[in-house]
Amino acid sequence: MSFQDIKGAGWALEYLKKCVEKGRIASAYLFYGNGEWLRKRVAKEFAKALNCSEAKNEKPCDKCLQCQKIEKEIHPDCIFVSPHGAASRIGIDRIREIKRSLNLFPVEGKWRVIIIQQAHRMTQEASNALLKILEEPPSQTTFLLLAPHWEALLPTISSRCQKVKFEVSSLEDILLPALIEAGYEEEEAKVFVAIYGGDERVKELWREVDFWKKRREIIEKFLGKKKVSLSFHLDGLYQWVEDWHKKWKKNIEKRVKEVEEKEGKGTAKERESFWEAEVEEKRKILVTLLINMFYSLFVDALKIKRGEKKIVNRDIEDKVKKISELDENYIKEWIGELEEMKRLVERNVNLSLLLGYIGLKIYGMGG
Ligand SMILES: [Zn+2]
Repeated sequence: MSFQDIKGAGWALEYLKKCVEKGRIASAYLFYGNGEWLRKRVAKEFAKALNCSEAKNEKPCDKCLQCQKIEKEIHPDCIFVSPHGAASRIGIDRIREIKRSLNLFPVEGKWRVIIIQQAHRMTQEASNALLKILEEPPSQTTFLLLAPHWEALLPTISSRCQKVKFEVSSLEDILLPALIEAGYEEEEAKVFVAIYGGDERVKELWREVDFWKKRREIIEKFLGKKKVSLSFHLDGLYQWVEDWHKKWKKNIEKRVKEVEEKEGKGTAKERESFWEAEVEEKRKILVTLLINMFYSLFVDALKIKRGEKKIVNRDIEDKVKKISELDENYIKEWIGELEEMKRLVERNVNLSLLLGYIGLKIYGMGG
C-alpha cells in the first residue's frame, strides 16, 4: 500500500501529494469527513512520504526501514495518539507527553508526525494544551488531527489547521470490488469488510490462518449445545492463537540463521527485534479479528431482534437467529464487553490476561 494505491481519497490525496512535492508542509492538518479507516491510512502514507529514505518523485517506497516502521506504528518520530480509558478520551497527560518529546530533534526521520486519531475525543484540558503547542509550532513537525467533523474541535484549534476534507461513499464500495477481484467469494468479502478493522495486514493473515474456515468452526462450537454457550472453548481458541504465534516465532529463528550465514551476526540481531515486533503485531491482529467476529455476530443478532433484514453474516443466518433468541439486554451487554475487549487489545494488554478477563465476564454474566 502506498500513496498512489489508495482508492477513494480523491482530492485529499492529490492535495497532500502537492504539499510534499512543493515541500510546503503545514504545522497542522485537520483530516475530516467520512471514512475513518481512510483518514488513518492516508495519514500514515503522508508520514511515510515525509520520511521515506528511498522516495521516488515524492512517492514513498513502502519498503525502507522508515516506511516499514511507520506502517507498524513503531517509528520514534511518528506518534500515534488515540482515545483510551473507560470514557474513551484523549487526556491532558498524553498531550503533555507529546510536548516533552517535542523538545528533542527527530530521532530517525526527517519529519516528526503526530497523528491524533479521533481528535474530537480530546478533553477540554487536552485541547487547551494542544492549542498552546500549535500557537508556537515546533520545527520539522506536523500534526495530523483526524475527526469526523471539523466543527467537533475547538474553533481555536481548527482555525490553526489546514483543513483536508475526505469524501468516501462507502468503504464497501472501495474494498468489495478489490476483494472479489482477488478471488474472494462475495459472502466472504462482505464479512471481511465488516470485521477486518481497517488494517491492511489483515488480508495476508486472513488467508494464512484460513480465517474464513476457522470462523465457521468456531461458530459451530459456539452454538453447538442447545443453549448458546459463551464459555464454549476459550482454551481451544487461546491454543489456536498460540499455535500460530509459535509458528511465526519459529520462522524468525529460521530467518535469523539465514541472515547470519549471509551477513554476519550484527545485522541479524537488528532485524530480529524488528521481526519480533512484527510477530507480536500479527498476534494482536488475530485476536482483534476474533473479537470483531463475535462483535459482528451480536450486532447482527440485535438487528434481527429488531426486525432489520440487512445483516453481515448472511452465510450463517440460521446461527445468528439462534443468538437473537437471547435476551436483548444480554446481547447489548456483550456488545459493550466486546467493545471493551477491543480497547484492551489496542492498549496491548497481555493476551492471557485478556482471556482471563473474558472468562470472568462469561462467568459473571452466567453464559
Ligand atoms: Zn520508504
